[in-house]
Order: sequence, then C-alpha cells, then structure tokens
Amino acid sequence: MSSDRIVGIDLGTTNSLVAFMQGENPVVIPGDDGSNLVPSVVALDEKNQRVIGNAARKYLTETPERAVYSIKRLMGRGVDDIREELKFFPFRLPEDLQAGEVLRITLGDKTFTPPEISALILRQLKRNAERFFGAQVTKAVITVPAYFNDAQRQATKDAGRIAGLEVLRLVNEPTAASLAYGLDKKKNGVVAVYDLGGGTFDISILKLHDGIFEVISTNGDTHLGGDDIDNLLITIALADTLGDLGLDLRNKDLRRNAEAVQAIRNAVIEAKIALSSQSSVKLDVELPGGKHYLREITREQFEQLIQPIIDRTIGPCKQALKDAGLKPEQIDEVVLVGGSTRIPKVRALVKELFQREPHTDLNPDEVVALGAAVQANILGGGSEATENMLLLDVTPLSLGIEVAGGVTDKIILRNSTIPASATQFYTTQVDGQANV
Ligand code: ADP
Ligand code: MG
Repeated sequence: MSSDRIVGIDLGTTNSLVAFMQGENPVVIPGDDGSNLVPSVVALDEKNQRVIGNAARKYLTETPERAVYSIKRLMGRGVDDIREELKFFPFRLPEDLQAGEVLRITLGDKTFTPPEISALILRQLKRNAERFFGAQVTKAVITVPAYFNDAQRQATKDAGRIAGLEVLRLVNEPTAASLAYGLDKKKNGVVAVYDLGGGTFDISILKLHDGIFEVISTNGDTHLGGDDIDNLLITIALADTLGDLGLDLRNKDLRRNAEAVQAIRNAVIEAKIALSSQSSVKLDVELPGGKHYLREITREQFEQLIQPIIDRTIGPCKQALKDAGLKPEQIDEVVLVGGSTRIPKVRALVKELFQREPHTDLNPDEVVALGAAVQANILGGGSEATENMLLLDVTPLSLGIEVAGGVTDKIILRNSTIPASATQFYTTQVDGQANV
C-alpha cells in the first residue's frame, strides 16, 4: 500500500480524529478500542509511560498532576497571555517559568511544551492510521479554528513535525466542515458554520465564490460548550446528594469526593447523550460507600436547564452576521459541527437563528475530520473529480499555511472577534476536583 497516503486530522480541544478518503467518501479511522474519537487527553503512568486518549482519562481524577486535557487552549501562547485560562483549567506550570519564556507545563516530574503534548495526540492518530493501512503514514492535513493566529497555526505545524508528520496544509475547521458536505461544488453562496463542542463555541460565516471559501467573519466564546452542560448537571446532582450521602465537599477527603464527583460526572454525561435521542432518562449512580443516587430527568426539564447555556450562542451569531454585513435570510447553507449540536434543542435554536434547516447528515463530531480527509485527497491528486480543483481556503492569517498548486492565499477576513471578555463560566470547582 502506498506509504504517501495523506490523512486528514481534526486536532480538537476535547476530541481528536483521523480520517481518509475511501473511494469517493471520507471515513474516520477508529482506534484499537474501536472508538472514532480519541479524547485529547495525555497522561504519564507510574512508569512515566505516555498514555493517550480514552486510556488516559482515568488519570484526570486518579492522578490529576500526571494528566493534561484541553492543551489546544495553550497552543502558540505565551506565559503571559494564558493567565485567563489558568483560572479555568488546572494547567500546572513549572515554578521557575519566567515571563517571556517558552510555555511549558508540568506532568508528573517532567515538563512539556504544548506542541509536544499535542504531538503525543497526533502520534496516536498516526499510529491508528498506520495500523489501519498496514503502512507508514507521514503526511497530513490538520484543521485549526478559523480564529487561530500565526503563532497558534505555527504551533500546530510544530506538533505535526514532532509527531513525525509532514503537515501539507492547515485548513480552517469551518471550511473543512463545508467541504465534508461538498458545499464547494455549489461554487457560490454563503455558509454559516455553527460549532458547539466540548469547551468552545465558534460561529463562522464563509463566502464561497468559484469554489473558494473565504472566512468573512468569526465569533464565539472560548469557554462555552458541552462541559458547561455537564457541570450544571453535576452541580444539581451534588446539591441533591450532599446531605443524603454525608459527603462534605469542604472536608479534605479529596479522594472520596473525587470518586463521587467522577461517578456523577460519568452518569450525567451518559444521561445528556441519551436525552439527545430519547424523551427521558433515569439516572442511577452508585456512589462510594454503596449508596445510590436516583433521579429521572425528562427532555423537557433538561431543555429548560440548558436554555441559558445555549442562549449564550445567540449573541456571537448575531455579531458574526452583523460583521459579515448579512441578514439571516442571506445565508444559503448552515452546517452543524461539534458533539453538542446533537442536542435537538440546539438544532432548533440554530434553525431559528438562521431561518433554515441545518445540514445534519454527517456526525457533527466527525465532520471536520471528514473534510480534512477531502482536502488531503485533493492535495494528493487522489480524486479525478477534484483533480483540477483549485481549492482555496482563505484564512484570517496566511502565515504558516501552504497552498497547493502555487495559488496565493489572500487575507480577506474583515472581522475576527472572539471577545476576550467571553469567559463567563458555570463553575463547579469542588476542591478543584469537579472540572475534569
Ligand atoms: P471538540 O471539538 O471541542 O474537541 P466535540 O465536537 O467532540 O469536541 O464535542 C464534544 C462534546 O460533545 C462533549 O461535551 C460531549 O459530551 C458532547 N456530545 C457528544 N455527543 C453528544 C450527544 N449525543 N448529545 C449531547 N452532547 C453530546
Ligand atoms: Mg471541534
């Protein structure tokens, strides 16, 4: 099998995926645990072996000082401009780290730069692809948020290089999602890409002219997503159980608290996911000590609870439209991205905002990786249909982006406004244990 097969990678804040073009269709390559999603979590085990993905998740609660998640938030950023993130996430910095130095974070007794951590995730995806193909994989297209600046894009390329991947191109996530739906074939039009993931919300308005995607505005909230829903449900469950269970979260029995919170966390996430396809769910959480927490949640109750959270996506959508100088009725296509857009109430909100039925045929948490695979195939000249296509993904910042076929990239973004103040958060920091 050809060893210069190019894969498409979605290096996400919460989950990462690798995909490739199988004939005419992009498909996601599963890991050896059968899962298409590789959680973007890296841990060091007792023997300092690196553990990545699903297997690393248990370390977040068992030995949180030896695990890291959401590393994408730190990519391409300096020691000085991550103070805000540190309020939300338990990233541990080395004590001797000085302002202006390259950012490193501590895992166990070692330190890593964010690209080194991301490289471990990329290497896992590379391994998954190599096992699938039975051949080496050395080339990739990787997606990045449309608002990523030069430094963040460069850090993503560095991560690829460290992982042993030649990054042929970085593609904007909303462009990739549009490609996955084949919207480039329409040649012209305006596409709104609504992306509600685990911890971030992005809205991007793309203009398609002659098959070229131009990001004309982006907006969002870097602390808004499925995590907020989980945290809200956990808060409610903890309020329900505390008295009953004799758990006192202010005491220092962190281990027991962490176990209780983790059991509740797993159960509410499962319930949340079930409520996307059924009208009610019964929670039954076995807590440390053997007691059970039982509660039924109907979809209606769930929707009421999460309304304030999902309503926080409205402002950024309106602003993105305004910045693009467009009215909702001027949007031709709406694409849903991110696992949290599986929630029917979110879909309904998007439909109302843009006054049109969004595309939902593809899995929203896979669509970016699928689009990256489409782009990889184009770059590899793999498909006759796309052979002559000069796909141009116009991005806010051109540095660090290589364009195939010698086409010049242009800077056309008119507005890129992820407000620094967009950091409202439903906090459930319980002795620093809940937010994992
Ligand atoms: P990211 O792009 O941030 O890496 P994803 O697009 O994979 O993340 O989205 C992850 C989020 O989607 C998580 O909060 C997860 O709980 C949520 N999610 C996944 N499936 C569902 C579902 N069926 N219903 C509701 N939320 C879901
Ligand atoms: Mg994503």
